[in-house]
Amino acid sequence: MKKVGFFQSVRLKFTLVYILLLLLGIQVIGSYFVGQLEDQLKSNFEESIDGRMRSLTYSLQNTFETERGDSDPSLQSEVQSLINDFDENDIHKLQVVNSSSRIIATDGGDFTYSEVGKKTNDAKILRALIYGESTPEIMQHPVSGDRLWVGAIPVTASNGDEIYAAVYFEANMSNIYNQLQEINNIFAQGTILAITVTALLGILVARTITRPLSEMRRQAQIMATGDFSQKVTVHANDEIGQLGDTFNDLNDKLRLSQATTEGERKKLSSVLSNMSDGVIATDRLGAITLMNAPASKLIGQSFEEVQGQSLLDILDLTDQMNDISEIETGGSMIIDFSSEDQPLLIKANFSVVEDEHEEMDGFITVLSDVTEQERVAQERREFVSNVSHELRTPLTTMRSYLEALTDGAWEDKEIAPQFLGVAQNETDRMIRLVNDLLQLSKMDRKDTGLFKEKVEFTGHFHHVIDRFDMHRKENITFNRELSEQELFVWIDKDKITQVLDNIISNAIKYSPEGGTITFRTETRRKQLLVSISDQGLGMPANTVDKIFDRFYRVDKARSREMGGTGLGLAIAREIIESHHGQIWAHSKEGKGTTIFFTLPLINQKRRKYK
Ligand code: ADP
Repeated sequence: MKKVGFFQSVRLKFTLVYILLLLLGIQVIGSYFVGQLEDQLKSNFEESIDGRMRSLTYSLQNTFETERGDSDPSLQSEVQSLINDFDENDIHKLQVVNSSSRIIATDGGDFTYSEVGKKTNDAKILRALIYGESTPEIMQHPVSGDRLWVGAIPVTASNGDEIYAAVYFEANMSNIYNQLQEINNIFAQGTILAITVTALLGILVARTITRPLSEMRRQAQIMATGDFSQKVTVHANDEIGQLGDTFNDLNDKLRLSQATTEGERKKLSSVLSNMSDGVIATDRLGAITLMNAPASKLIGQSFEEVQGQSLLDILDLTDQMNDISEIETGGSMIIDFSSEDQPLLIKANFSVVEDEHEEMDGFITVLSDVTEQERVAQERREFVSNVSHELRTPLTTMRSYLEALTDGAWEDKEIAPQFLGVAQNETDRMIRLVNDLLQLSKMDRKDTGLFKEKVEFTGHFHHVIDRFDMHRKENITFNRELSEQELFVWIDKDKITQVLDNIISNAIKYSPEGGTITFRTETRRKQLLVSISDQGLGMPANTVDKIFDRFYRVDKARSREMGGTGLGLAIAREIIESHHGQIWAHSKEGKGTTIFFTLPLINQKRRKYK
């Protein structure tokens, strides 16, 4: 935040207001005081002139009454001496004009004695002579510009019958105005002094207000950066002090709530990053505002890439929904994110986030990978359907044969044993199937029931092959390429025999044209590698990995015809894996098949494999 310049500051505004108020006060007082003083001085001046002029006119009245003739030189000189003796203080000019308007005596001013005897036609003098009126007024001296108090006073007979003469006077008022000017100057100096003092005081007083405010402003800036450690100093218990206290309280509360928020945020962030489910939060318009690492792993995009984008676009739901508001709390759906080489099914659970006014504020979507779950569910469905199917076929066959027998075929000595034979075969097949299923189910429950012992594998393998060799069809040759050294493995002999039986019988079963069946054993690192190859039907490349799945058969009809349950290799895989080995196949259609499996060899030094 930028600093407040002096010219925009509250301090200057305060000071200006003080000065303006002071000026206004001084102006009002000054103009009233000077006006009153002027009036007072003027009236004093006028009264003093008036009094003095009255005493002069009184003396003149006496003179005129004793010396009658107007043109009497003794009267003239007496009048002249009277006004010469007159206290001329402030009186600038005096003239005595007789009733025939002739100046009979004069004193002061620009006048000279030469004016004596001359006639005057001054309006004031004439009015005094004719009407006996005295109308003094303020006039300005034409040359000096001084203000003058000018008038003419009639000199009347004591009985009032006659006007003897008029006394014309001009009194200089400049003393009054000089005095007023001086007072004005004192006022002006006082005003300047008062303004200076007020400005300084104003700045000081304003500082006491603005300093805590500036401190609070600085403090607020520090708080904005997240630092709540400092406090405002409270200097007084006035309104600003209370504001400071409130500010400090606010600081405490903010620190507390920030600590709580920060704690909650850390908790939430740790919950979000440690949970295995993906979480995506959006605003009310569906724009992504938060996403944790598992969610970003599931959808294959980083938070930075999807931030602000629509949830519907990212989850590819635009076909199913037009607007995010169609999402309901508690709603869920499974979204297929599978790529060409990897299946991926994501379950999305939606919930609506409401604000304190219970208005929708956004959405939380929890994503979980349900590919495995769905696969298991699918397998289970397929398994149930397969088992039902596998059981239905022999049961249907048996029923039709039994019906035929019931309908009378039992009497036919040739057909009856044949039909009963079929029923027995089908029963055997069902028993095999149920046994196989029981074995698998046991293995699924990890109830392997393995009885492991140390077995020398080469000898045991020869023994198993020998059993097949005895009943071998003529068109099939056995080729043994077994290792000559003794190879010890820690196995359940019966179970591994079952595996070998299954593989060898398959090799024979799926070699209708005959051919050589080769048996091999080799050691690879600490593993025993067993392989059984035939030159039979083989199978298409894309089915090779599937033959170990339950009920999978390359050629269903043929396999069933040969009495297979489709579970042999699935059981073999379970057995081999429970011995910590692996099983796989190589095959070429029309050329033959090789089934490989490994078993861990016993470390001879340790004597016993566990
Ligand atoms: P089945 O009882 O049907 O033989 P298996 O689990 O033993 O069941 O074998 C599964 C399927 O694998 C068989 O149906 C067959 O199609 C195929 N298969 C197994 N071994 C061979 C082999 N040696 N040659 C060709 N196909 C084979």
